[in-house]
Amino acid sequence: MAAPVTPFDRAMSFMRSSFDRIKLLELEKKLLSTPQHILRHDISFERDDGKMMKVHGYRVQFNNARGPYKGGIRYHPAADIDEVKALAALMAVKTAVVNIPFGGAKGGIQIDPKILSSAELERLSRAYMKSIADDIGPDIDVPAPDVNTNPQIMAWMRDEYEKIKNVYAPDLITGKPLSYGGSLGRDKATARGGFFILEQLSKLEAINLREARVAIQGFGNAGSEIAMFLHDAGAQIVAVSDSHGGIYSKVGLDPIRIEKYKRKTGSVSGQYCEGSVCDLKRLKMDETEVISNEDLLTCDCDILIPAALDNVITEKNAKSVKAKIILELANGPVSPEADAILEKRGTIVVPDVLANAGGVTVSYFEWVQGRSGDQWTAEKVDRELRRIMLQSFDDVRSEAKRKNLTYREAAFDVAIGRIVEAMRVRGWTT
Ligand code: NAD
Repeated sequence: MAAPVTPFDRAMSFMRSSFDRIKLLELEKKLLSTPQHILRHDISFERDDGKMMKVHGYRVQFNNARGPYKGGIRYHPAADIDEVKALAALMAVKTAVVNIPFGGAKGGIQIDPKILSSAELERLSRAYMKSIADDIGPDIDVPAPDVNTNPQIMAWMRDEYEKIKNVYAPDLITGKPLSYGGSLGRDKATARGGFFILEQLSKLEAINLREARVAIQGFGNAGSEIAMFLHDAGAQIVAVSDSHGGIYSKVGLDPIRIEKYKRKTGSVSGQYCEGSVCDLKRLKMDETEVISNEDLLTCDCDILIPAALDNVITEKNAKSVKAKIILELANGPVSPEADAILEKRGTIVVPDVLANAGGVTVSYFEWVQGRSGDQWTAEKVDRELRRIMLQSFDDVRSEAKRKNLTYREAAFDVAIGRIVEAMRVRGWTT
């Protein structure tokens, strides 16, 4: 069999093995291999020089058997239809793993947003909303931020939708600013959800988190926040990286200090070796060395957290991974071939559809608050997030034990079982 090559192939490879294990009917397999709707739009917006720019925009609505479509919108030059389809399918699985009443969707605009001014970004975001406004809504499809989009962009989009439809729609979109219908705790939700699982897993595997050495690829929203949680829990953060490179210290790094320096210099490795003056000496961190992103993945550690890109652990480097546990905070960081190698080596992989589902879970809380007009305290958000993450982990772990599966296989089986059950009772499969 040819190795899967595109993001959608990789996502479907995990889904198809689950279809076979849970013995779906041919029609059910077909329904779960094809998005329900693919929206493609040419979006035009005005640049600051008065010229019009045209870009491709997509919204893929994969499955809504369990509730409104749900998924982020990314702005990225590589956001093509195949990638958006893959992410939409994985969102349907993710919302089902954590058992929240949503389906799966994803949006994307093929553009490098870093070339745009703030005014151009606003015009682009409003133009995208104009193109999708008739196909989304609080009961239909609820977008959110993703790569290179943020609360400000969600605010522009909600405002545009409310103007077009002449409605008040605090439940249209999640990941909004706190001052415009956002939820407390959303900014740290992905990392916190992953941390809750890691805490529970280490208890069950008799691993002392206080002695664990952790390497994190990607020091952005998800990566830097989980570094803080783990640091507070006494774990040793031995390596971190960003798109410029990484650093490793066998005696442990201080994520608070790294965050501070990153803000100043814009890079994780740059902060320690800026220009001709090496900050390593100034910071008295002699035991810290600069490493590449590839080295980080195979460095000496107990827990590896990919929190940046997809497809970074492949058949090429999986054999060299030393970590006992991989927590996938990024979407799709481990390829199906690497997954098989890691399983043989006994590495525990907590899959993305469970590990990073804290984000969509708190998005669900935001939607609930938008619908009810209620405002939850940070404590309530954390308490409910913990409850859902631990229950989902327990569901997946029980399935894995019962059927002798990896956590990924079990998570897909639990999720696809739930989606198919909803499709069956709705009469979609007969
Ligand atoms: P972010 O943009 O805040 O951070 C991404 C980090 O990755 C940055 O530090 C960036 O420098 C780094 N990076 C980029 N290219 C890299 C490279 N080639 N090598 C190493 N590092 C690189 O994004 P985020 O919100 O933290 O998301 C990170 C991952 O987690 C993505 O895969 C995203 O889809 C996934 N995720 C995030 C959330 C969330 O709520 N933030 C939820 C679910 C999944």
